[in-house]
Amino acid sequence: MKVITAVKRVVDYNVKVRVKSDQSGVDIGNVKMSMNPFDEIATEAATRLKEAGKATEVVAVSCGVAQSQETLRTALAIGADRGILVETDVELQPLSVAKLLKAVIDRERPELVILGKQAIDDDAGQTGQLLAALLDWPQATFASNIEIGDGTATVTREVDGGLEVVSLRLPAIVTTDLRLNEPRYVTLPNIMKAKKKPIETIKPADLGVDPAPRLKTLKVVEPPVRKTGALVANVAALVEKLKTEAKVI
Ligand code: AMP
Repeated sequence: MKVITAVKRVVDYNVKVRVKSDQSGVDIGNVKMSMNPFDEIATEAATRLKEAGKATEVVAVSCGVAQSQETLRTALAIGADRGILVETDVELQPLSVAKLLKAVIDRERPELVILGKQAIDDDAGQTGQLLAALLDWPQATFASNIEIGDGTATVTREVDGGLEVVSLRLPAIVTTDLRLNEPRYVTLPNIMKAKKKPIETIKPADLGVDPAPRLKTLKVVEPPVRKTGALVANVAALVEKLKTEAKVI
């Protein structure tokens, strides 16, 4: 079973981003970039399937600027066997990414494709679902467990109020939730090994896809500054303030 994981290069989750002065977006010049955390979970899940003898090959795919090679190297250090970079400087929106991934999948013919449930930069949470629709494949989103059977996957999903278990016929799309696994620490020997693994670079035109954005960002603004709170001496003082100041009781 071949598994593809989709890995996106995003601003590191520890970075506090700043809005550009022209409100056209956030400033990502000189900030640390990393693999989207949910995609690390996806790559870890695929690697564990390989280690368990369920997967034969893990291929990591990233779409974006040339530096996304670094993200692919991280995926290779976690355990992916090879990488594919669909290189473009165009701003990629989920529909374009889904079209690019579909074209790669048509070439690679994997049985399972694992994506993150959302990218922490755009928070769109759309790509996996769009990809499943374009391929007309079954999908299980927000996975916290994946079991592979004979031509099937049984996936536990994190849903409001509990867990849902679904059975899918392969090939299928799965998107990862936080509790699926804890990605391994990438060790230096594995980083060295990853340097020898192949990364193929292709362009959207090679796949016959026009990745031009369909949505226009009108403006990006900082969230309003929260007012500082006040400490009250006791419950009676709190009730008094809620009555007379906030007027909510
Ligand atoms: P989104 O729909 O943008 O929140 O992203 C959901 C998931 O789609 C991510 O966690 C990735 O697995 C995948 N994805 C989104 N954008 C890209 C990209 N540029 N390259 C590779 N995978 C991506």
